[in-house]
Amino acid sequence: MKILVINSGSSSIKYELFNVHTHDEYTVLAKGVADRIGISGAYIQHKKNDEEEAIIDMDLPNHTTAIDAIHKLLVDHQHGVIENISEVEGVGHRVVHGGEDFTGSVLVGKQVIEAIKKNSELAPLHNPPNLLGIEATSKTLPSVPQVAVFDTAIHQTMPPKAYLYGLSIEQYKKYAIRRYGFHGTSHGYVSKKAAETVGKSLKELKIITCHLGNGGSITAFLDGKSVDTSMGFTPLEGIIMGTRCGDLDPFIPIYIMETQDMTHEEVNILMNKKGGLLALTGKRDMRDVLQEAKQGSIDAINGIEMYVYRIQKYIGAYAAAMNGVDVIVFTAGIGENSFYIREKILKNFSYLGLILDTEANNNNEIIISTEDSSIYAMAIKTNEELVIATETFDIISKKS
Ligand code: ADP
Repeated sequence: MKILVINSGSSSIKYELFNVHTHDEYTVLAKGVADRIGISGAYIQHKKNDEEEAIIDMDLPNHTTAIDAIHKLLVDHQHGVIENISEVEGVGHRVVHGGEDFTGSVLVGKQVIEAIKKNSELAPLHNPPNLLGIEATSKTLPSVPQVAVFDTAIHQTMPPKAYLYGLSIEQYKKYAIRRYGFHGTSHGYVSKKAAETVGKSLKELKIITCHLGNGGSITAFLDGKSVDTSMGFTPLEGIIMGTRCGDLDPFIPIYIMETQDMTHEEVNILMNKKGGLLALTGKRDMRDVLQEAKQGSIDAINGIEMYVYRIQKYIGAYAAAMNGVDVIVFTAGIGENSFYIREKILKNFSYLGLILDTEANNNNEIIISTEDSSIYAMAIKTNEELVIATETFDIISKKS
């Protein structure tokens, strides 16, 4: 079944065309990104099968023209991979915020669109462009079923003690202020892969998944369910990230606004766009930070120390919250690739009986703990697009 995965942002649309047979048997036919939508200099970066990437300049005034251009590329005589766009049997969309309305992926219909719109209040930068992708697809492929896959859905299993804040209950009931958590497709995918690797069911294992990319979050899985996660009401809470400050005394933004004559938008930018590694080291990208540290930059060395320390604290907290841990999993850009950061983080878990296999870790192998280690440590490549494709496949297969 040919499934098109769409991740629609404010000025770009990432896409990937899968041919899915089963969850384990699939091929990627093409993928790419339509960028600078609504801005001058728009283009589509398109990769067909194993061929070289092509950059195709074209005007993309809005999301509908971009989706239409992607469809045309997929059937193009030079760049195309299918004969006719009608071969696409389903479109899966990444939707960031499902609020409390969605505990799993769903077929898109009127009510689903209304609920995504309602949750736009909680994710004003993400849900509206996600919806544009859905609406554009409805125009260009009106009879093809669409599925929405939410970043928040997997975390809806958290108990109230994990998702409520120490605020009046009115803030939750009336204003929906609670922990939602994000990166759900990634945490879910790597936790399942970890269980498969151990050879046990997910339900039997206590797993802590560390998604360490530009954004980053840590999730605790108990009885096969997410029971806590470090991102909160928004993706700002939790560990230090590329440009996000992570956990902060909640009074700090109020104090900054009062004493430094900053508007709330300026403080928002300070915390979300100019915080984290960027604020601490001058670089947002971990590879650059590591490079600077190698060259002796004290800021970079201290930034890495802080980054690692905060992650260690979350892992420790979740091990305590679950009364133990069987597997610690690392994923996303930093988690999959940086053996140095993984080693630094894992150094403090010898108290749990964790023994790092340095060679396996340096080679970015899946299991990076030794055979006689009491708990597993793993580095697992995430694949959020594949999760969206297989969720779409499952829902459409059930429907027909
Ligand atoms: P996004 O959240 O944008 O999807 P990624 O998962 O691609 O991000 O992760 C990007 C981060 O991963 C960047 O900080 C980048 O420097 C880091 N990264 C990628 N490769 C390596 C590597 N080999 N060593 C250290 N960090 C890496």
